[in-house]
Amino acid sequence: MAQLFRTLQPVQETQTVTLPDAVGRIVADRVVAPVSLPPFRASAMDGYALRKEDLQQHPQSTFPVVGESLAGHPFTGRVERMQCVRVFTGALVPDDCDQVYLQEQTETLEDGARFTGEMPKQSYIRGIGHDIIAGTCLSEPGHQLNAFDTGHLAAAGITDVVVQRKVRVGVFSTGDELVEPGTAPGLLKAGQIYDSNRFTVVSLLARAPCDVTNYGALADNPDAVKAALKQASQECDVLITSGGVSVGDADFVTSAIASLGSLGFWRLNLKPGKPLAFGQIDNCYLFGLPGNPVSTIVTLLMVALPAITFMAGHAPEAPLAVNARLTSAISHEPGRMEFQRGVYKAHAAGLEVAVTGDQSSNRLSTFSGANCFIEVPKTSGNLEVGSTVRVLPFKGLLG
Ligand code: AMP
Ligand code: MG
Repeated sequence: MAQLFRTLQPVQETQTVTLPDAVGRIVADRVVAPVSLPPFRASAMDGYALRKEDLQQHPQSTFPVVGESLAGHPFTGRVERMQCVRVFTGALVPDDCDQVYLQEQTETLEDGARFTGEMPKQSYIRGIGHDIIAGTCLSEPGHQLNAFDTGHLAAAGITDVVVQRKVRVGVFSTGDELVEPGTAPGLLKAGQIYDSNRFTVVSLLARAPCDVTNYGALADNPDAVKAALKQASQECDVLITSGGVSVGDADFVTSAIASLGSLGFWRLNLKPGKPLAFGQIDNCYLFGLPGNPVSTIVTLLMVALPAITFMAGHAPEAPLAVNARLTSAISHEPGRMEFQRGVYKAHAAGLEVAVTGDQSSNRLSTFSGANCFIEVPKTSGNLEVGSTVRVLPFKGLLG
């Protein structure tokens, strides 16, 4: 992957978006807080604001209540010695006061408030900038904004954020056997199957920082594949195809990329996922994913999606991995790293994981009910029940 990241040129253009559109986008310019939060000294509790010194010197006295400070309705008068002001959480604490006394420990009398509890150990006043200090950086370039960030930025009064432009991604499937889902099963001719890869690829990219164009399915026809890839490469930063990359007679994608631009053919030591084509036509990068549906998904998640995220300006991150105890045996021949599909569950004793049946790379059903990949190291042989394996939860992979 490091080699791939060295090849890829991240998108340079930026754009300004407003907060509702900012989630998932990659920050381009540092976001600096223009104000502090809170912007004034605010009460952390409902109670009474007064001078701590007065309370310490006259703990038994009744303090006249000279006003009220509510959230959004500050008390603006002066608070004299031995006086107090009723305050509520989030309300401005008058400058004269350096202590809030909790209402639960206060007795309200005709002529004022008397404090019945212990001397408070803290002021219950949130200082200016207790949460956010004006001038500090709230989001660094390269950070992918999330829902928490929108609240954080809104709290600092920010609505506009400069982000990287989305990566333009075009998705194709290839194969003469493919029929558009929705076609009545009775109309399927011998040898035909429904196209599924385009749907999984488009859906798996839905939350990535990219704009996806679904270019449909290509016939196994060299001229048609070439013309379509040439045209789409002028419209996109990245093209993703599935099928047509293995060394067979009907593998037109690799030859089309080679004749239109440059082709780097990768024999990823990955199961499922071999082979994978990578190439470039002008400024557009192409990922020719293998056609078997499971291989398509694994190579998309492990190679193409991180590449797109990198091009979007987001620093690459290793996927989250946790250890789990295997509850079903895994058969594996040493040689290639394998990502089997599994279901992990949390138990009191820790995580347990089981594979989802026959793991053939054509079996999309292995993803049904799955919530993780089980990483089987390339040197590993068969794994017994009870073995400890590394599990990659899909949540971490899907962003
Ligand atoms: P290929 O790499 O084109 O030789 O395809 C490998 C296998 O994946 C074949 O069984 C294809 O029928 C199947 N396949 C290729 N593309 C798709 C697709 N878009 N949807 C479902 N299956 C596909
Ligand atoms: Mg094919």
